[in-house]
Amino acid sequence: MLESLRRIVQEVDNAPDLEQALAIIVRRVKEAVGADVCSVYLNDYDNRRHILQATDGLRQAAVGRVRIELGRGLVGLVSERAEPINLDDASAHPRYLCITDTGEQRYHGFLGAPIIQNRKVLGVLVLRQLEKRHYLDDEVTFVVTLASQLAGAITYARTNGELARLQDEGIPQRFLPGLAASPGIGIGIAAVVYPPADLDAIPDRRAENPQAEEDAFRGALQDVAADLDRMVARTQTNLSAEDVAIFDAWRLMLESDTLVDGTVARIRAGNWAPGALRATIADHARVFDGMEDAYLRERASDVRDLGRSILMHLQNLAAAPIAYPQKTILVGAEISAMQIVDVPRERLAGMVSTSGSGSSHVAILARGMGVPAAMGVADLPVGRAEGRDMVVDGYRGRVYVSPGPAVRAEYQRMADDDRAMSNELQSLRHLPAETTDGYQLPLFLNTGLVSEHRPLGIEEAAGVGLYRTELPFIVRDSFPGEAAQMSNYRKVLEMFAPRPVTIRTLDIGGDKPLPYFPVHEANPFLGWRGIRITLDHPEIFLTQVRAILRASVGLDNLQVLFPMISTVTEVDEALTLLRRAYEELLEEGYQVRMPPVGVMIEVPAAVYQAEALARRVDFLSVGTNDLTQYLLAVDRNNAHVAKLYDDLHPAVLRALSQTLAGARVHGREVSICGEMAGDPLAAVLLLGMGVHSLSMGAHSLPRVKRVIRSISRARAREVLQAALQCEDAASVRRILFETLEGLGLGGLVRPRR
Ligand code: PEP
Ligand code: MG
Repeated sequence: MLESLRRIVQEVDNAPDLEQALAIIVRRVKEAVGADVCSVYLNDYDNRRHILQATDGLRQAAVGRVRIELGRGLVGLVSERAEPINLDDASAHPRYLCITDTGEQRYHGFLGAPIIQNRKVLGVLVLRQLEKRHYLDDEVTFVVTLASQLAGAITYARTNGELARLQDEGIPQRFLPGLAASPGIGIGIAAVVYPPADLDAIPDRRAENPQAEEDAFRGALQDVAADLDRMVARTQTNLSAEDVAIFDAWRLMLESDTLVDGTVARIRAGNWAPGALRATIADHARVFDGMEDAYLRERASDVRDLGRSILMHLQNLAAAPIAYPQKTILVGAEISAMQIVDVPRERLAGMVSTSGSGSSHVAILARGMGVPAAMGVADLPVGRAEGRDMVVDGYRGRVYVSPGPAVRAEYQRMADDDRAMSNELQSLRHLPAETTDGYQLPLFLNTGLVSEHRPLGIEEAAGVGLYRTELPFIVRDSFPGEAAQMSNYRKVLEMFAPRPVTIRTLDIGGDKPLPYFPVHEANPFLGWRGIRITLDHPEIFLTQVRAILRASVGLDNLQVLFPMISTVTEVDEALTLLRRAYEELLEEGYQVRMPPVGVMIEVPAAVYQAEALARRVDFLSVGTNDLTQYLLAVDRNNAHVAKLYDDLHPAVLRALSQTLAGARVHGREVSICGEMAGDPLAAVLLLGMGVHSLSMGAHSLPRVKRVIRSISRARAREVLQAALQCEDAASVRRILFETLEGLGLGGLVRPRR
């Protein structure tokens, strides 16, 4: 049976379309189990019915015609229970339904297995026997396994319109799910791209002339650096500081000892340049591959992308010119930054990649260029996508292949609304985030690694609410020294002075290890991270706070923030070290000042101790990303549970209220710096709660400002009261969505479905 299972799965995989996949299944299963009939019914939820979609044993003319009301009969029962039902004598069952159109006789033996994907029952695979028969456990498992094989084929057929055609109905079209990577709606024609140079296929080869190989390698590095400059020039004005930082990280990698010296050493040891490059890139990418943190794992694909770009120049591969459609949706299993930049901007309508996520390099590039993108659309068969009509919903990470006219028209309307909205947001640039009753809520930027580029949002923001210091540590080969750190911090403090800049001390840990400081833990999120590491390594902490304090000399706009605090002792110890650094620097003659200090509220324990923490410091800053993860016990990078992650969960709202109450006792301000702060829906609640400031990515700033400027504080408090009555996140979301719709701002947010 195992052998026939393997064969059938292979045949189904190779079937060109759903119709044939179903035909193979019913024929093969009937044969393998020795049943009298094998059929597949598909669920049509919109029209509330089960449709007979394939059969071997019943009349073929009945296919597509027999429609059973949803939930009726034994098919309805299997679908309802979402589990197999095995009956010796179905005709004796109260739910038995005899349908004469199918040429049915009175069958006795019955086995029905649900076809399920993502908890949803898509249909039912049914076996029947004229005689009484109880199917054996092995037979049940066999049928259940094959039913699950069908789920993917059915989903794809729904999205590309095949199912609608098969069922000859205008069934609302389905989509291929992926990850939202760059907001917006893209409508166009798919152009498929493939990796330009296959680094892994490069063999080792003896270098005839090592010096010539080394020169060629260094020349290729320069060519890539020039490409990078062109890329930055094309996107810069639209990139947030964090996004620009990724380019800087690329440049650092391009100049890093690991890449340059590693490759040159291999060339000098006798390998030719492409072989030496392949080995170096593989080593370097492996370090990132092994990381727990999804963001850092994505850097492995950046490293490979970089390797391919260098190889392309090494081999002088001029990419063959591609005739891009007027409205191109760029599609690929792995799209490189160079391939994006190759498409004339005015033709690039959207991007779809079957791998990657929102933190992929190309996703960042897409956001910078304002190109809607969905990543990780794993079910899209790239090989069959060329030339197809496509809609990319970059808000929800959805892709529609060959959409019907209704889907197209709906998305066209959304795209038109977006255009109008973005013009309007542009006009708010120089206006404050002030409510209709005159209350100003300062909006700050979240950023990390500010370079010579002047990133988006810099004029608009009230300052930097969260400067993440991890990036310069991550892209180097060893801990940066005091001077190197100081120059980084100085740049951001100078760029925003006199506006405040809140620099957070190092927040690495088991989930974000540094390549040169590996931490292996069974439970990294509950492990050695944030302040726990830096207190255990005072030399790292002291070097960093000395650099931070020195960077602020003469500017007076510094604030310091401690991450991952779970006890008051940690705050006391961190403050002691900070004071020690301050006094040392005074003794050394630096004109430093003791900055205001805050702690992050990211762990449930800190919420319950907000008052005790607030007594020790000058302000609190809530990291809602970690706080939500720890309150709900959900790792949002884990696909199995990501849908449970929701920062509008009532527990999160209560935690925020409690934090504010604790801070109020000592008259301390509370800022929100997790992603929730940049969500236009949540902005209404946070305003109503009385938080003192919000800190967010640059792209969120105009949207949140638009909301603040449209509502009064009094109304926001009313909405908050209503939201606090809710028992689940979906109800909170509904109230907020209706509020924004009522303000004419529905277009700022797309409802989650
Ligand atoms: C947070 O946890 O919300 C936060 C802002 O910190 P980070 O995202 O850097 O962990
Ligand atoms: Mg955090």
